[in-house]
Amino acid sequence: ATPTAVMVATGVGANNGVLIKGGDALEKAQKIKHVIFDKTGTLTQGKATVTTAKVFSGMDRGEFLTLVASAESSSEHPLAKAILEYARHFHFFDEPSATEDAQNHGLESKSFGWLHDVAGFSALPGQGVQCFIGGKKILVGNRKLMMENSVTIADHVEGFVVELEESAKTGILVACDNELIGVVGVADPLKREAAVVIEGLKKMGVNPVMVTGDNWRTAKAVAKEVGITDVRAEVMPSGKADVIRSFQKSGSVVAMVGDGINDSPALAAADVGMAIGAGTDIAIEAADYVLMKSNLEDVITAIDLSRKTLARIR
Ligand code: ADP
Ligand code: MG
Repeated sequence: ATPTAVMVATGVGANNGVLIKGGDALEKAQKIKHVIFDKTGTLTQGKATVTTAKVFSGMDRGEFLTLVASAESSSEHPLAKAILEYARHFHFFDEPSATEDAQNHGLESKSFGWLHDVAGFSALPGQGVQCFIGGKKILVGNRKLMMENSVTIADHVEGFVVELEESAKTGILVACDNELIGVVGVADPLKREAAVVIEGLKKMGVNPVMVTGDNWRTAKAVAKEVGITDVRAEVMPSGKADVIRSFQKSGSVVAMVGDGINDSPALAAADVGMAIGAGTDIAIEAADYVLMKSNLEDVITAIDLSRKTLARIR
């Protein structure tokens, strides 16, 4: 495209909340054959909410929630935020005098004073978190995290997790000193426009793919809801870029749409990286396009804009 065409298209994009970082990105978008979508925070709202918390040890429910929330209190992950929010509500409404206060000041006025002190916190990308609370080792995360710490998952616990996953939820396992003590179920609804956008892309001859670090069962259930048949699940953060490269090797021009720190290598590896505006700074930096409204319809806007700009100057 001529510098003028690029300038005009960049302006049109900006007016629609689509930031295009240069003419190269603009030219490539028309050739996109596959769009790889991250699941959490990209296809889904990234506003996870806890739907169930089940204690499998003798531990008191309030204490269980405090423990899990404390372990997650240093994590930036959407799942961690959901757990903190749930535990905060639990503690708030547990206090008899609190309800009136909630009406007067909003829940925001409630502090996190009930959280335990945490030592030796570490976030394990694609797995969960680990820390020490009151001298006990706490693990919060998926099966992989439990397996690597030799935590046994009893059949009835596994059954409970499978049930959550088959209804598109994520089951988060909790262990104390390598004994499984409970499971937290989290739901993260699809963005309202997600299914329509997937259908739109297919009509444009573009193949949608979903990639996620989440487990296969949840991934498949979410993909089915949104209309995606090509799914790659249980992908470690470093593996998302490999998924992009495998599509490129088979001759495709590939776009990646993502929001997380985890997605930045894939956004950089893709022919066209598109970051969700509400996503992390690192993702935004790695991308060629920024979808400022965080609306997936702008994936189509971006491809359309490229196709039209380049058609006009031919
Ligand atoms: P996605 O690719 O869908 O954004 P991630 O790679 O961030 O997912 O995480 C993959 C999986 O690792 C999650 O589905 C969850 O099971 C586990 N996990 C990661 N971080 C956390 C956390 N802070 N707390 C609990 N589980 C976590
Ligand atoms: Mg994400």
